Amino acid sequence: MNHHDHLATVENESELTLSTYFKNIYEAVVSSAKGMWITFKYVYAHKPVTIEYPEVREPLPENSRSRLFNDVDNCIACLQCAAACPVDCIYIGAVRRAKDAPKIKTDDGTPIRLDLTQYTIDTALCCYCGLCTTVCPTECLTHTTDYEYAAYSVEDMKYDYLNESVKAWKGRIVKG
Ligand code: SF4
Ligand code: SF4
Repeated sequence: MNHHDHLATVENESELTLSTYFKNIYEAVVSSAKGMWITFKYVYAHKPVTIEYPEVREPLPENSRSRLFNDVDNCIACLQCAAACPVDCIYIGAVRRAKDAPKIKTDDGTPIRLDLTQYTIDTALCCYCGLCTTVCPTECLTHTTDYEYAAYSVEDMKYDYLNESVKAWKGRIVKG
């Protein structure tokens, strides 16, 4: 190979490199454009799959099992819910009503012979299986559709349903 030939080869190589360089740029632009086209198609041609929570909320199915609520005025303290609970997270206290106390009944006419002294559910332990609501004879214990009750402490997830502030949930979260 003489000196001239050698120069020609080097020139040729550098030409190839330059054309590869532009080819790469071209390919990058084309593939980005394709990618952006797909993105734009999704942004403008597809219905959004997300909602702007909390301004917008999806209605939950009727049979969804969210926060439990015990309407204690209709609870006869039969303990069936606590017995059915697989994780033992229902704590009930009750005393027999005094013989001379006024006779009271639940909304469905069941006589109330025991007065609740405690009705607590530790919802941090609850697995939302629904067994407690299934066995409740007066149907005072129900799953609501309320799912917005995150708490900073596990202790705060233990609800005392005799507490007036918890009783006040009734109008807000219990299914109609
Ligand atoms: S939903 Fe299940 S785990 Fe929760 S309190 Fe009822 S029985 Fe217990
Ligand atoms: S099963 Fe119903 S009525 Fe019986 S203790 Fe539980 S919540 Fe009350």
